[in-house]
Formats: sequence, structure tokens, C-alpha cells
Amino acid sequence: MKKLSEQIKIEAKKLKKTTHQHETLKKIRHRLSIESGFKRGYLELLKFEREKEREDRFAKEGIKPSKKTIPLFPVGNGLEVFLNSDGQRGIRALNDYNIGDLLITDYPVFWATLKSVEEDVRMSWKLTAEILAHNRKDFEKFVNEYELRHDLHTPRYDESDRKISSFLSKRTGLENSDIRRIYNIVSTYHCISQIGLIHEETKTYAMGVRSSIIPSLCFFNHSCNPNSQRQTYRTIEEYKSMSEKLIATKEIKKGEEVTWAYSDVLNDSLKNRRKKLKQRFGFQCSCKRCITEQQNKNR
Ligand SMILES: [Zn+2]
Repeated sequence: MKKLSEQIKIEAKKLKKTTHQHETLKKIRHRLSIESGFKRGYLELLKFEREKEREDRFAKEGIKPSKKTIPLFPVGNGLEVFLNSDGQRGIRALNDYNIGDLLITDYPVFWATLKSVEEDVRMSWKLTAEILAHNRKDFEKFVNEYELRHDLHTPRYDESDRKISSFLSKRTGLENSDIRRIYNIVSTYHCISQIGLIHEETKTYAMGVRSSIIPSLCFFNHSCNPNSQRQTYRTIEEYKSMSEKLIATKEIKKGEEVTWAYSDVLNDSLKNRRKKLKQRFGFQCSCKRCITEQQNKNR
């Protein structure tokens, strides 16, 4: 067994070779030392997230990327894509569902590891950079096949976004407009998955956060009073499996739209919900709950 300091050096070296270059040695040392009680699990997380190991793992476990196994229309067995009254795509139920029913299981096709949810303002850039570096052709194919749109929402775009875009433009030789198009698509369709684990004996904490594009989850619309919920990960194994499950949290009737909440709708006020949704996903929420709360406020 190598000493922790040696392991950190090795880990940092490996990380430098991947797209996680932002992880400086100092930060890794800090994180690993405070979490050394949970070192093994944490190293496992870091190791797992490395892009290169993706194919191996998929092959070993016989997991196929969902775009090959789940058709777009319908999604799964009991759901289908439809156009709502605004002419936007949503998902509706083809059967009746009870509370607790599993609606769908799917897997990401593009993803990036994040340091924390705190950096959510820049989350979409991580995934954009990952796609530009490794999967641009696959991504364009995916965008075509699923008809993903870059003009649905306009994510915040300020001076620092311009800087990131110029940096990526220099590295890839793409125009800023192309990069912004990909960034818009990523911002509109990505999901955040996370796990926080507490090691009971040492009372230490480890966390994994991932931003990803999951084919069937792309088209569910947000509601602040949703009728489904993504299942949270309880173990490292579940997080590593990358399976994303959507569970009914209300009774859903055949033909009804299925929605889930993109951000915290239990604790956040109307103002906070709108602010977060605008920042992260670039849209102003006008679900029934938001409209009612707005009307009550105006009275
Ligand atoms: Zn709302």
C-alpha cells in the first residue's frame, strides 16, 4: 500500500492527462486529506469518472448506450414525445401510473465530472468542453437524430462566458458562434446527477457530481409542481452504474404530461426558483404553480 502523498501525486499525474486539468495538485491534496477516511471510495469515484474507462466498463457490464436501445418515439414502453400547446416537445404518459411506479430507466451518452454543484453557473461549459475535446462528431450526430435545438432558451452569456468561448475557439479552431450553439444545446438539455456519502466511522464526506445528456430525460419539461422525480443515488455502486430512473410521485393518467423539477421546488420561493432556472437552464418558468403564486403576489 502506497503512502497517501504518493497516491496523490499519482492521481494528480493521471488527472493531468485527462480533461480534468483544472484539478490542481493543491486542491486534490486538500480534498483527499480531509477525506482520507473515505479515501478508497473517493479514489474510486475519481477513477471511475475518467473518460477512457467508459467504453471498457460499458463493454464489461454489457450496458449499451441508450440511443441504440431506446427509440425516441415512443420513449420506453409507457411514454411518448408530444408537442404541447406552445409547440414545444414534452413527454406524456401512454398508461395510467401509480405513485412509486418506475417510469423509465436510461443512461447518459455524454457527461462531465464537476467539482461541486456550487459551480452550477459554469456547469454547462464543462460538458461543452468535454464534448468538443472528445465527442464532437458523435454529439452532432446525436443533435441531428434527436433534433435538439440551440434556440429554445438563452442561457446567461457574459464577459466570462465570452472568455471561455474564445479559449475553446483557439483550441478547436471552431468559430465562437459554433461553440455558443453547442453551449446553448448543452445548457438546455443537460441534467445534473450527484451523490453525497458520509463515512459513519470517520464522519468524513465524499461527493460526486456529474453533468450529462441523457436521451430520454432531455424532453421532460420542468414543473414546480411535478408528478415525477429522478431517483437519488444511495450508494457508490448506484452512482457508478449511471442508471437514471424516473419515478412517479403522483398518480398520472394516460395522456397527462409527465414533468419533473429541474431545481429545488420544495424550499425555494417563486423568486429563487425563477432565478435558478433562468441561470441554469435559460428559461422563465410559467408552470401553473408559478402563475398562481405570481397572481397571489400581485393581488
Ligand atoms: Zn414554475
